[in-house]
Amino acid sequence: ERRSGKELRELFLKFFEEKGCKRYHSFSLVPDDPTLLFTIAGMVPFKPYFLGLKTPEVTRATTSQKCVRTNDIENVGRTARHHTFFEMLGNFSFGDYFKPEIIPWAWEFLTERVGLDPNRLYATVYLDDDEAFDIWHEKVGLPKERIFRLGADDNFWAAGPVGPCGPCSEIIYDQGEKFSCGKPTCTVGCDCDRYLEIWNLVFMQYNRDEAGNLTPLPHKNIDTGMGLERLASVVQRVPNDFETDLFRPIMDKACELVNVKYGEDPKRDMAVKVISDHIRASAFMIADGILPANDGTGYVLRRLIRRCVRYGRLLGIEEPFLTKLLPVVRESIGDEYQELKEQAATIEQVLSLEEERFSRTLAQGSDLLDSEIAKLEAGKENKLPGDVAFVLYDTFGFPLELTEEICEERGISVDKDGFEAAMEEQRERARASSKQTSSVISKNVYTELADKIAPSPFCGYTEVKCEAQVK
Ligand code: ATP
Ligand code: MG
Ligand code: MG
Ligand code: MG
Repeated sequence: ERRSGKELRELFLKFFEEKGCKRYHSFSLVPDDPTLLFTIAGMVPFKPYFLGLKTPEVTRATTSQKCVRTNDIENVGRTARHHTFFEMLGNFSFGDYFKPEIIPWAWEFLTERVGLDPNRLYATVYLDDDEAFDIWHEKVGLPKERIFRLGADDNFWAAGPVGPCGPCSEIIYDQGEKFSCGKPTCTVGCDCDRYLEIWNLVFMQYNRDEAGNLTPLPHKNIDTGMGLERLASVVQRVPNDFETDLFRPIMDKACELVNVKYGEDPKRDMAVKVISDHIRASAFMIADGILPANDGTGYVLRRLIRRCVRYGRLLGIEEPFLTKLLPVVRESIGDEYQELKEQAATIEQVLSLEEERFSRTLAQGSDLLDSEIAKLEAGKENKLPGDVAFVLYDTFGFPLELTEEICEERGISVDKDGFEAAMEEQRERARASSKQTSSVISKNVYTELADKIAPSPFCGYTEVKCEAQVK
């Protein structure tokens, strides 16, 4: 049975409600947590409970959490399974159920509720976690040769350098030979898409401090996370997340706008995937109060929008197109996330303004970069000077990472230290001049925009406005 993404989300939340978990709606993408820029996993909003800093109202919870991961930006479209924005299906135990319950439940959900073929499933455990190994083998009945012991990179999970963490056990779905990277070493744990990691069960037992020391948490907890898009791709038997019903409407519209026939050219397909992913992420980020800026979450948003515009240009579209994708984003996921509808006008205006601003300088910046690259190639050099990257950033609005990506496509690196030095010099100049003309405050375009937009009950501006203005 090929269930829709929406059905799978509901199936998961219902299943864990039956197991006594309280269902919460997704929390914001912007966490109340100084150590993290974004909500990168379902556990983030619950961190104080794991740490024992706050007492939860319940000991069992379940969510489908909106997540953003910036470390995966460049994976988007290259792998079948990575997004910048995705939904993480999760369930949590705050000192309540532990390994003996969650492992069999996860198996029950995947094989009985969802109906995945048990013969395609594998489990991994952390090196010496015999307890988890035995539960998989004895309680679930998974043959020993289908349980892999992997190291910390795969099987010790942490939300960041400090905070709650612990060994984990992951569930892998074998998509079959034709997804393999073909290397002789390709097996469970390989980074290609054959052995697809679908669900991570984290045994949250420790807190890691700044010095890297692990101390046991007050309770043993459970934190699990499964990408809804990945689950849908397996259930719907499509080769990548972008072909699931969660993404298909966005992909189809993007293809139509940029005049691409999906499946004909991998490079063009990739560009369409990037656009589809980033537009969805951008819409959600704006809905949660983020505005384009030169630092923090706003910089990430800016980077995503500008990447969309550039990929659109690469596909030959010259006119503004981003906002035309918003109705299909809402259609594909807006029932679950009302904020996309409530904030529709804001999302549209912010996107179109940012697209317009970047469009004006993209062509000129690209010309400059092309000619600089040509110079380097003529001189058999392979490092773009930092001050060029800075001019691209400062005058043409190229996020540094965008310059790096374009250069990388041509085998060239960017002098980042030189870029930072140029940036610092400019800060110095700004400091010096602000002393002279401190009464002049330039009004940020987004502030003007905020004044114009219809009165939606939205408090993001009061916080983000000032930040965006400082830079
Ligand atoms: P991968 O190894 O594929 O990058 P991960 O080990 O980084 O995944 P976890 O941190 O264990 O992922 O997150 C739990 C689950 O969230 C994963 O098993 C996967 O289903 C999903 N997930 C993680 N990153 C992404 C992403 N960028 N896009 C979509 N789903 C993701
Ligand atoms: Mg990852
Ligand atoms: Mg992994
Ligand atoms: Mg993982």
